[in-house]
Amino acid sequence: MKKNINLEDMTYEEMQNMYIKETYRGYRGVTTCCICGAKLPLAFSHNPKPVRPESWYGERENRCCGDCNSDIVIPARISLPFGDILTCNILTARYRNMNHEELRASFKSFPSMRGDNFITNARILEVCGIK
Ligand SMILES: [Zn+2]
Repeated sequence: MKKNINLEDMTYEEMQNMYIKETYRGYRGVTTCCICGAKLPLAFSHNPKPVRPESWYGERENRCCGDCNSDIVIPARISLPFGDILTCNILTARYRNMNHEELRASFKSFPSMRGDNFITNARILEVCGIK
């Protein structure tokens, strides 16, 4: 029997959990983050360019988690000099040779890209029941 869901009776956390479960149900599959190595549901994966080679939603290789996307990939994109292809290429080559710890250290002082309602990869894994 299908249960009726009344959004007004749900807490924000319950709504987020429902969103996480439904998104994962719609697109199952797990990979590992190409930056930090954490397990990662494909439904919540991101393009890691310029830190790692570009990938698209639906691909299994070169996908990164939301934590790395917010803490490393978005800061790296914002930090690239607009219109200066040579410097962009030099920085991109440097990022690709850096491991997770080095990348984290590089953008440590960057303003946080994690919003108030940010969902960590660990929480996504927990809600989806991925061990
Ligand atoms: Zn990651």
